[in-house]
Amino acid sequence: MISAQVQDLLLQEKDKLFIAAEKVAILEEDHTLDHAMLVLAHVRYSLIPVVNRQNKITGLISLAMILNQISGLEDLNANELHQLKVKEAMETDFPVVTMETDIEDVMNELVDQSFLCITNDDREFLGIITRKEILKRVNYMVHELHKRYELVDR
Ligand code: AMP
Repeated sequence: MISAQVQDLLLQEKDKLFIAAEKVAILEEDHTLDHAMLVLAHVRYSLIPVVNRQNKITGLISLAMILNQISGLEDLNANELHQLKVKEAMETDFPVVTMETDIEDVMNELVDQSFLCITNDDREFLGIITRKEILKRVNYMVHELHKRYELVDR
């Protein structure tokens, strides 16, 4: 368990910790792979969330996943990429968090992921939380702890 003081410092202005859904580059699972490649090249993020038509989070997609999906095809042409869908190449096994998830659990998941998708209880996509933002907070928290409190050896 982390102390209340640490938790307060980490969660100050909690809203600023998250990137809201409308500012996140996403793809729909029914988008074609040629479209997905264009979007990924344009946004320059290596990995982005995938939603279904109900705006529920269903996957993560990267250029590497697309290349992996098409690498087995014998004659690859633009037509093939236009036939295949994002849902055929995306990763579906990944952790998600909610606004209520403990900050400690969020940090634990961010050890292995550069960002986490945030959903509501119906798995609707609300936004992301990145490792970078959390690290900035941890940095701030360490400095503030020393300014505000005197640490004593037990
Ligand atoms: P950053 O902390 O900005 O380096 O972002 C870490 C990862 O989070 C990026 O590599 C992307 O996979 C994802 N990411 C960050 N911001 C966005 C965004 N606005 N839209 C989509 N994905 C994002």
